Amino acid sequence: DPVLRLSGISKAYNAGLPSEVSVLRGIDLTVAPGEVVALVAPSGAGKSTLLHIAGLLDTPDSGTVEIAGTDMTGQSDRKRTGVRRRDVGFIYQFHHLLPEFSAVENIVLPQLANGVSKAAAQTRALHLLDQVGIAHRASHRPAELSGGEQQRVAFCRALANEPRLLLADEPTGNLDPATSDQVFAALMELVRGTGLSAVIATHNLELAARMDRQIRLDAGQLVPL
Ligand code: ADP
Ligand code: ADP
Repeated sequence: DPVLRLSGISKAYNAGLPSEVSVLRGIDLTVAPGEVVALVAPSGAGKSTLLHIAGLLDTPDSGTVEIAGTDMTGQSDRKRTGVRRRDVGFIYQFHHLLPEFSAVENIVLPQLANGVSKAAAQTRALHLLDQVGIAHRASHRPAELSGGEQQRVAFCRALANEPRLLLADEPTGNLDPATSDQVFAALMELVRGTGLSAVIATHNLELAARMDRQIRLDAGQLVPL
């Protein structure tokens, strides 16, 4: 089974009002196990809407979302939340780390919420931090980390519960170009190392070129880049 399959996804905001915007118009997208797809779209094109629908944070007006072979249409909120927590990891442009907690604690907490023991969660968190090259920052709080380090911690947190699918919305968009390059390389290494599938939205065509496939969101539809 593909890890993600979107079929005929449409979404409008303010339906029926003069302010109606039809954001997605019949989106079909299949992501195979281990495949990393670049999603390129100008601001306002609807990529956040698309990623939120793919990650079960939002529902389409029509069309189906399948995660690892399970059609999520019409499933209860409880079931959708369960699948989202277990199978999907999110990364945003801003790290959204908890400011009172250290880097390692930010990666441990979602695992505890998922029933992992404290010792196992700690071991996994430190291993992830090591993989992105910042094990020596484990006990620093977010404010004590550079922007690039904060994003690396956010990547580790997104992978903490071993999701099958990673959805990233401009993961290096708030970093300067040199840092962005290094941090993106760390992300790709992490993703390749786990065999995870990913959809990564970026404006950066050089970064997009390093992924397996490039698609563009244009007038509500996906087209090859
Ligand atoms: P992107 O992530 O590509 O910038 P979004 O998915 O955030 O795009 O938004 C796509 C379009 O839908 C934009 O025109 C935006 O203004 C509009 N939009 C997004 N969310 C809402 C909402 N909750 N209500 C009304 N319009 C929205
Ligand atoms: P960059 O130039 O990569 O943005 P900074 O100059 O902000 O990084 O920080 C350099 C190093 O100092 C980073 O590794 C960061 O973890 C550390 N650092 C930055 N601010 C603090 C702080 N308030 N407390 C402790 N360490 C910090």
